[in-house]
Amino acid sequence: MSLADLLVRFSDRKTFARGIHPPGNKALSAGGAIEVLPTPANVVIPLHQHTGTPCEAAVKPRAALNIGDVVGRSKAAVSADVHASIAGSASAVTAVTLPNGRRSLAVPIKAGAPKAEPGAEPAPAPLEGRALFDDLFGGDWSLPATPPEPAAILEAIKSAGLVGQGGAAFPTHIKLTPNPAKPVSAVLLNGCECEPFLTADHRLMIEAPEPIAAGLRLAMRACGASRGVIAIEDNKPDAVDAMRRAAAACPDIDVAVCQTKYPMGGERQLIVAVLGKEVPTGGLPLDVGVVVVNVATSAAIARAVLRGRPLTHRVVTVTGRGIVRPANVLAPIGVAISELLKHCGGLTTDARRVVAGGPMMGFTLADVEAPVTKGTSGITVLTAAEVESAEQTTCVRCGRCVDACPLHLVPTKIAQASKFGDWELARRYDIMACCECGCCAYVCPARVPLAQHIRAGKARIMRDARRK
Ligand code: SF4
Ligand code: SF4
Repeated sequence: MSLADLLVRFSDRKTFARGIHPPGNKALSAGGAIEVLPTPANVVIPLHQHTGTPCEAAVKPRAALNIGDVVGRSKAAVSADVHASIAGSASAVTAVTLPNGRRSLAVPIKAGAPKAEPGAEPAPAPLEGRALFDDLFGGDWSLPATPPEPAAILEAIKSAGLVGQGGAAFPTHIKLTPNPAKPVSAVLLNGCECEPFLTADHRLMIEAPEPIAAGLRLAMRACGASRGVIAIEDNKPDAVDAMRRAAAACPDIDVAVCQTKYPMGGERQLIVAVLGKEVPTGGLPLDVGVVVVNVATSAAIARAVLRGRPLTHRVVTVTGRGIVRPANVLAPIGVAISELLKHCGGLTTDARRVVAGGPMMGFTLADVEAPVTKGTSGITVLTAAEVESAEQTTCVRCGRCVDACPLHLVPTKIAQASKFGDWELARRYDIMACCECGCCAYVCPARVPLAQHIRAGKARIMRDARRK
């Protein structure tokens, strides 16, 4: 254990060993209230927006749809239904490229009048602007005097198609289902948003703290946890205040202020920083009795359980020096990313690269017509000056990548094994434990694309495993 690791272990600061401090660039989009995208003319709802088995289309072409109607479902254990995010009519299933570059089948929906139920009053026009935001996040989020039973909470979450909105998109009902062999002692709400540029979670904590706190209480009840902790980095004092107020009446919930450091929002780093527990290599947070839930997912849990509403919209940060007017935008799932860019004034003349997510863990977009998915936390547009980097040179064996890796891996060895297709060696160096945070590549003076090699290697190993 290095001196730095020892200092972290015996310090009372909520932090973890190693990691990096890239410029946050949060001020570009953190200041303004969440904006609401006007209802687009079309959306395309991908049938595979989550970890697990893709859905199958549940609607026929020309079917009339209201917001929230199921358009895709799966009987597989690990999956999440998808729902219409606008009212209108379905078109034939098509194929789309997702923001992460993968291909998925999808159900296009053309906007139209809401479907009228036979014998019922005509359906009201869909909400727009602040009325839509208030409908999704406003009002009273108190739990009823007799709160729903855990099984009912899990069923509501499953029906709503909830997945982790922080990026991994793992189905939430699976994460929260109790496992008698591994009891949960704490639910950790992740409000760190450590990825540079992104501020969607930050704004949501300021503007909608009540549903976030209600969702945490429901998540704790679903998985049997007696403790809830809302973890927020110390660069968001206004979010800390808002969440403290929202959780003030809940003695079993604390707000933990963490050091601003990348990747604090990684599950393993967060658990060790806040709860002092080490998740074993190859293990899961559940192995140390913890479930980690993103703050936006928590608000969606409250909406699903208390109001019976599926996941149809999410807040997306549209930011970077390559966009004219950075903002956080509430958008329907399935809207083209190009619509968000247009809403924010379009690209600047020196814009060069559009990234789905942030610059550390995001994916360069090949096509801005890709749809927003449940896991799309942000769109970052980088300029030519930001993209141009010094040329790659040879590794100088400085060891900086090893010192930066929060998972104590040896990035240079893994990247080399991956580059040369030595999968046995890559496995021996624990390639699958890598969380793809990018710290190693960020600090490398030789500009070796370590994280890219490792990510490609992991994808290849997973593909081979699926084929077997
Ligand atoms: S090896 Fe993986 S976990 Fe370690 S710094 Fe590089 S990308 Fe992050
Ligand atoms: S940081 Fe770059 S140059 Fe230094 S050891 Fe790692 S790969 Fe080599």
